[in-house]
Amino acid sequence: MSEAQETTKRAEDEAETPELEDQSDDSSDEGDASGDCEMDFLRNLFSRGLGLGPTEKVLDELSLEGVARYIQSGKCKNIICMVGAGISTSAGIPDFRSPGTGLYANLQKYNLPYPEAIFQIDYFKKHPEPFFALARELYPGQFKPTVCHYFIKMLKDKGLLKRCYSQNIDTLERVAGLEGDDLIEAHGTFHTSHCVSFLCRKEYNLDWMKEKIFSEEIPKCDKCSSLVKPDIVFFGENLPARFFMSMKMDFPSCDLLIVMGTSLQVQPFASLVGKVPKNTPRLLINKEKTGESDFLMGMLGFGGGMDFDSDKAYRDVAYLSTCDEGCLALAELLGWKAELEEMVKREHALIDSKTKKEKEGQAAQSSGTSEKAATGAEGGKTDKTD
Ligand SMILES: [Zn+2]
Repeated sequence: MSEAQETTKRAEDEAETPELEDQSDDSSDEGDASGDCEMDFLRNLFSRGLGLGPTEKVLDELSLEGVARYIQSGKCKNIICMVGAGISTSAGIPDFRSPGTGLYANLQKYNLPYPEAIFQIDYFKKHPEPFFALARELYPGQFKPTVCHYFIKMLKDKGLLKRCYSQNIDTLERVAGLEGDDLIEAHGTFHTSHCVSFLCRKEYNLDWMKEKIFSEEIPKCDKCSSLVKPDIVFFGENLPARFFMSMKMDFPSCDLLIVMGTSLQVQPFASLVGKVPKNTPRLLINKEKTGESDFLMGMLGFGGGMDFDSDKAYRDVAYLSTCDEGCLALAELLGWKAELEEMVKREHALIDSKTKKEKEGQAAQSSGTSEKAATGAEGGKTDKTD
């Protein structure tokens, strides 16, 4: 745990009433800090279950139209987006959890002891090869942001986005134009990498990592020769300290929560939906309903999750579609559709021309390398220098 993380953890410990033995199994994968987070979640469940405070109805109708009218009313200026793998599937990035099409189903070729090992920090330190082979296969630069990513960018451009909390590690939010400050990459990012040695921790950028990945070389620190790992959060590692700090500042002032493309099953991320004020409308755009309180919680009267359909429903809206379709539909209701489509077209054309240039560069480089290999040249550097 880094010093900053320690500090956050300590601050959290002090700020909250401790001593509630929880825990569900979910949290153990995500590191110590999620315990605090789950406790918050439980506390929220209790306070809401007890019916503390009034529940004012903000949307005039529990529908996408109602949400659009609310955005247009000008009363909503601090939108938080929470996004997951579902917003990137139309970019061709596999969803980790979908059976068959999901990532875990396609890992047999790496001879892992069990599929999750590929993202486990202890396994990775001993056997980094499968992870980097997969990274090559899933490399972010090969994909373009989706309509949904650009919709979030549009919220930013219009001054409505408080922040985007993403579970994705594909950096597509950044490619779409969100900047570091707009974004909480809850499960880390490929954008930067660090030497795994605690004594060194040298940082490397995306270009450096990309070159290693595509040269099929295991990335080693040029200062201390330890392994270098992209800053994605592996199982057995803590979530970024920024996640916990921002969460506390952002959610109390959130006036519309838009949840897209996530099954809300991974903690502590999933518990964020319970952290907005209780009058704040929550829109889910997803292929299926999710985040509803489960049967047991319902029986106990806590009702902490989303409530789309009960006779007590007052603020949650589910729009069941792909994330792209949902964003287009919302954009249309807002009168932004043409602007959004134009943005997607323009940005994709830019990326295409960049990719083309890169490919030409790579082709030139690899023909150079294969000539060298053919002549048996050794010991020299490859023709690409840093
Ligand atoms: Zn190092």
